[in-house]
Amino acid sequence: MRAIVIAVGSELLNQERLDTNSLYISRRLREKGILTDMKMVVGDNREYLSWVVRQACKRAQIVITTGGLGPTADDLTREAVAEALRKEMIFREEIVATIRERFRLMGMAMPETNTRQGFVIEGAEVLPNPVGTAPGLFLDTEPCRVLLLPGPPAELQPMFDAVLEARIGPLSRFHVRSAVMRIAGLSESEADARLTAALGRVANLDVTILASPGLIEIRLMGRSRKDKAEAEEAVTIAAERVRNEFARHLVTEKEESFAAAMLRRLREKGLTLVVAESCTGGKMADCLTDVPGSSRSFMGGVVAYDDALKRDFLGVSQATLGRYGAVSAETAAEMARGVRERTGADIAVSITGIAGPGGATPQKPVGLVYFHLHAADGDVGQRRLMTGDRGVIKVRSVHYALNMIREYLDGRA
Ligand code: AMP
Ligand code: MG
Repeated sequence: MRAIVIAVGSELLNQERLDTNSLYISRRLREKGILTDMKMVVGDNREYLSWVVRQACKRAQIVITTGGLGPTADDLTREAVAEALRKEMIFREEIVATIRERFRLMGMAMPETNTRQGFVIEGAEVLPNPVGTAPGLFLDTEPCRVLLLPGPPAELQPMFDAVLEARIGPLSRFHVRSAVMRIAGLSESEADARLTAALGRVANLDVTILASPGLIEIRLMGRSRKDKAEAEEAVTIAAERVRNEFARHLVTEKEESFAAAMLRRLREKGLTLVVAESCTGGKMADCLTDVPGSSRSFMGGVVAYDDALKRDFLGVSQATLGRYGAVSAETAAEMARGVRERTGADIAVSITGIAGPGGATPQKPVGLVYFHLHAADGDVGQRRLMTGDRGVIKVRSVHYALNMIREYLDGRA
């Protein structure tokens, strides 16, 4: 079964808003073994929309629209789809009654424009919207099913999940099992080559590898027309091979960030962490504090951008700064030692480098970053020369620093 997703809304055509709904939908469909062949963005234009829906229905077995179900004049999806499928619109008083009741519970009178939302396409199943006013519509028609969902992601996601479980998922001819494995400390090309060699041939398996700066994600998907067990087996075999091949690089086998995985391991061992950041400007602390409950292991950190702060807040010696410079192995080491001494944390990590585009010298190019990890039983420095723009270098640096924590913890284990 193949899907086409159509995101509706003029705001999605410019920089005002990014279409995230189609990404959500295609990811969830994939988990059911249904692949998305195409996605489109169409402005609030009835003629274009009905033309696109008609074309999509000739190709795909399921067409999903998002947006344009609101009460205002620019919400045209219902009418456009009806036109595309040459179906009538029918007024359903009970839908309006439900919306009126929603407003009443909020202590408001329903604006008259909302009566528009009572019009549905003939033969469509009305999908309740527990979060907002716009109900969804599902046309269980052959050879192409059409699903209309509202635009706000918070409304769309639970509605889509419900209809996926109840109506769309069972249509898939595949049983699917999937797994994610994240690895670090390798280049994408090396990871790719080793992955291909390690996996060999596994029946019913679909593998994708996705690299982001400093972190590589391997997604394994077992797909079987026969049964769950066959899909499960494909993933189990593949995961075991990946685990063996990348034992020294494995970050996590969960849907969690690098920082979350490290915090989990620190917590398990009862260890605390502090950071001293220069070129990342607090990004490492930011990534760590994005994780709920991070305070149980992450104590905090110092953003010491200027040399004076490296000296006064972290105790980096003037002699070190003068002789080796702020971007040096020696400064990185003193930053880590200094922040650990001042906080009493178990582990301290420092980052100092040149994120660019300016600030480079012949000896110290853009992308040169020094890291240091300091603990009671560990004192490790690393030098890295990275590619990418300022933003990429910052993210990559955070992942490198997290990877040093991972290697330290692996070494202790
Ligand atoms: P609508 O259902 O067209 O009235 O959309 C309501 C709101 O949902 C829009 O103003 C956007 O903020 C949001 N929205 C619509 N479509 C999308 C989409 N494809 N991705 C993310 N947000 C969206
Ligand atoms: Mg809209």
